[in-house]
Amino acid sequence: MSVGRGKSLLLGPALQPDGSRTMAYRALKALVCGQCGAEIAVGCIFARHSRHLRAATGYLSSAPVCAICRPLRVESATEAAARAPTNEERHEG
Ligand SMILES: [Zn+2]
Repeated sequence: MSVGRGKSLLLGPALQPDGSRTMAYRALKALVCGQCGAEIAVGCIFARHSRHLRAATGYLSSAPVCAICRPLRVESATEAAARAPTNEERHEG
């Protein structure tokens, strides 16, 4: 089994609870959180472990981390806006 493409889609920069930035991904296949072991379902947004883990383990690819372990706020709102318009924008008439 090769890693390859199609496991996840890069969404763009996202904000973490501590205010630092990371990259947000959308799962295209069910993944397993590298931190708590929970399943990251298809379509869920998740982050990836930061570099210090990579240094510790020697892995080049960082493990996915579910939104429970690491809540994300995706900065480019294009995805969210397309799916769910905010209430504030619904002034019609
Ligand atoms: Zn987790």
